[in-house]
Amino acid sequence: MASIQDPYGRPIDYLRISVTDRCNLRCIYCLPSKGVQPFASKNILTYEEIVRVVRPAAGLGVRKIRITGGEPLMRKDLHRLIESLSRVEGIEDISLTTNGTLLKRWAPSLTDAGLKRVNVSLDSLDPVKYGKIRRKGDLSDVLDGIQAADQAGLRPVKINMVVIRGVNDDEIEAFARLTLKNPYHVRFIEIMPFGSGGFWSDDKCIPVHEMMGRIQATGPLEPVDTSWPGPAEYFRLPGARSLIGFISPMTRHFCTACNRLRLTSDGKLRPCLFSNREIDVKSALRRQASDREIARLLKLSIQWKPEGHVMDSGGNSDHLKSMSQIGG
Ligand code: SAM
Repeated sequence: MASIQDPYGRPIDYLRISVTDRCNLRCIYCLPSKGVQPFASKNILTYEEIVRVVRPAAGLGVRKIRITGGEPLMRKDLHRLIESLSRVEGIEDISLTTNGTLLKRWAPSLTDAGLKRVNVSLDSLDPVKYGKIRRKGDLSDVLDGIQAADQAGLRPVKINMVVIRGVNDDEIEAFARLTLKNPYHVRFIEIMPFGSGGFWSDDKCIPVHEMMGRIQATGPLEPVDTSWPGPAEYFRLPGARSLIGFISPMTRHFCTACNRLRLTSDGKLRPCLFSNREIDVKSALRRQASDREIARLLKLSIQWKPEGHVMDSGGNSDHLKSMSQIGG
C-alpha cells in the first residue's frame, strides 16, 4: 500500500515514538542541569495506547518506527512494546535511539522482541569530557552497550555525535577514524538551539562543511549512495569498514525530504520537531475512540505538516519544548 502524502507531496511512512520524557543523563545541549518538570505518570501513554495509534498509522502507510525519548530504555520492559509493535501488520522496521548506558543489559531481549537497529548518542571518547557533556553516566557503559548491540545483531549500529565548538570538536577526527576498523557508522550532527538552560550560542554550532574540511585532512571523503531514508549524507574514508554521515539541521534543512510524524510520550501527534503545533491523541484514546477516529487525527496531523522550518543559527527556539519532552 502506498504511503499517505502531506499537502506538499511528501510521503509519510515514518513514525517516531517517544516512550518517556525521563532521562538518566543531563546532556548540556539537551537539558538544564536540574532537568525539566517531568510529565505526570498518568499522562504517559501506556504500551497498549501506543499500539492503538500505530495500528491505524500502519493502515495509512507508516512502515518504519523509531523508539526514542527521554531515554527509552528507562521505560520498564521496553521489549514488551517492541514485541507488540512488530506484530502490527504493515510495520517493517523498528529501530531505537538511545544514550547506550543501559543497552548492554537489554540488547539481547530487544533483538528477540523484533528490534532491528540502534542509534547510540555519544559525544566524546574521553571519559572526563563525556562526564562534562553528559553530567551523569559512564562512558564505559556506553562502549559496552555499543558492542553488545552489535553482538546481538542490532546492525548497523550508528553512533551519533553532536558536535559543539570548544567542547568536543577536537574529537571530530578521532570519531571519523572509528570508521576505519569498526563496523559502526559515525554520524556528525550540527547542534540545534533547543531548550537547554541557556547553553546555546551561535558560535557553538559547527557547520557540516567545516566538519568535512577537518576530516578531509585525514583522507578524502568519498560520497556513498546508501539510498537509506533520512536526513544524513554518507561518505567513506578510503579503505574504511564503515561510513561517515553528516546531519545538518541548521545549515542545510532537509524539510523537502521529511517523511516523519512524531508521537510524544504524553500522547500528542507532532508534525514537525520545530513547531509546537500538536494534536492531542491521548484524550481520544482515553474516551475509547475508534481506530477510524485515531486515523482521522493522524491524517489531520499529516495535513498540518509545515512545508519547512525556520531554524537557523539566529533562530529563536525558546518557545520549543525540550528534546526530551518531544522525543529527539
Ligand atoms: N536518550 C536518547 C539518546 O540520547 O539518544 C534519545 C533521546 S535524545 C533527545 C535524541 C537525540 O537528540 C540524541 O542523539 C541527542 O544527541 C540529540 N539532541 C538532543 N539535543 C540536541 C541538540 N540541542 N542539538 C542536536 N541534537 C540534539
